[in-house]
Amino acid sequence: MPAKPAYVIVGASLAGAKAAETLRDEAFDGAVVLIGAEDELPYERPPLSKGYLLGKDARDSFIVHDEGWYAEHDVDLRRATIVTSIDPSGHRVELDSGDFVQYDRLLIATGASPRRLDIPGGDLGGVHYLRTVGDSERLSAALRGGGKVVVAGGGWIGLETAAAAREYGCEVTILEPESGVLRRALGPELGEVFADLHRSHGVTIRFGESLSEVTGAGGAVTGAISSSGEELPAQTVIIAVGIAPNTGLAAAAGLEVDNGIVADQALRSSDPDIFAAGDVANAFNTLLGRRIRVEHWGNALASGPIAARSMMGKDAVYDWVPYFFSDQYDLGMEVAGLPEPGNYDDVVYRGDRDSLEFIAFWLANRVVVAGMNVNVWDVNDDIQALIRSGNPVDVARLTNPDIPLSDL
Ligand SMILES: Cc1cc2nc3c(=O)[nH]c(=O)nc-3n(C[C@H](O)[C@H](O)[C@H](O)COP(=O)(O)OP(=O)(O)OC[C@H]3O[C@@H](n4cnc5c(N)ncnc54)[C@H](O)[C@@H]3O)c2cc1C
Repeated sequence: MPAKPAYVIVGASLAGAKAAETLRDEAFDGAVVLIGAEDELPYERPPLSKGYLLGKDARDSFIVHDEGWYAEHDVDLRRATIVTSIDPSGHRVELDSGDFVQYDRLLIATGASPRRLDIPGGDLGGVHYLRTVGDSERLSAALRGGGKVVVAGGGWIGLETAAAAREYGCEVTILEPESGVLRRALGPELGEVFADLHRSHGVTIRFGESLSEVTGAGGAVTGAISSSGEELPAQTVIIAVGIAPNTGLAAAAGLEVDNGIVADQALRSSDPDIFAAGDVANAFNTLLGRRIRVEHWGNALASGPIAARSMMGKDAVYDWVPYFFSDQYDLGMEVAGLPEPGNYDDVVYRGDRDSLEFIAFWLANRVVVAGMNVNVWDVNDDIQALIRSGNPVDVARLTNPDIPLSDL
């Protein structure tokens, strides 16, 4: 009898764990080895800048599966284990222990890491990056002490940590080099909503300024110097200037890499036996007709299973509608589609933008390319259906709250 195949997954987080789950759900009966650098059960990261950072969520409330699940499903989870290289011709990966693991098919789900700022004082105690559960615990302990906080970067992580810091009673200043927050994620029209939200909660936002230096005494932070030259007193500095995909392994193995691991619509890389999913993949999305690399929880949730089915030779297509959510103060929202500048020519609203209870639609030639529901719920599936349809809409009906979105 031929030996059963072995599927190896590098990166034991949401995309990797969901891929392992799908392999078993789809009755794959070979070996499944899930290898992760962190000494944790695979977990979801969104609470790290929200409920867990605020001390409201329990640690085990955001694990993907409890420990028993891996044994019950015969998934060989290897924690605190780093894959140091991939040998595509030998079909094996090398571990930091020096051991090798053979694979028939490999999934790379190594995610992304925060971009680090190489600035004077950047390694002082009191300077925080946020990616892991340990990072969140350290930041939570720092914010609990109150004091002055400077956040470098007005993106999602910067804004969510700023909101948490305000809830802890800290004085918060955000340094944002562009002229608005979330410009690249939402465009200027809707970015402004979030800038106003933070200002109304007492956050100071300094546009056109970036973090140049962190000052300290006795190893602790005492201030942050902005590119304007001004020193802002601070006990805590949060650096949230974006993330970079963890492509080192793939590049060293000779896979095609271009802002992530280049993958086709089946999430297959340039090597036919190697697949990529989650934050690290720059994959061809059939719905959008182009490659995208997105850093969203929903993408890890969707692409891990698609990659798993592809690995098994099943017909699986990356036609996911980009989906993102955020919670800041008492504002909760979901975005479907990619409302980046250049993707749309108009923004229209259903409901009053200033009331912070509305839906925004980004249109291109009257076709809905993205939609964001703010403090309005149970509509995101309908927004996704509008995006999927690709049909031009009647804007008067779209913006009329009396007409259900499902009737458009
Ligand atoms: C604080 C925070 C808040 C977020 N909030 C939201 C939100 O509100 N909404 C939203 O849509 N998205 C949010 N995200 C984004 C979302 O969490 C990511 O898109 C998701 O985690 C990506 O999952 P992944 O499995 O692709 O990668 P990751 O979660 O980055 O996991 C990759 C794993 O691979 C491991 N790894 C890397 N290299 C190796 C190696 N060589 N060997 C072994 N293991 C390796 C890493 O240690 C890591 O555990 C948030 C992210 C963070 C950090």
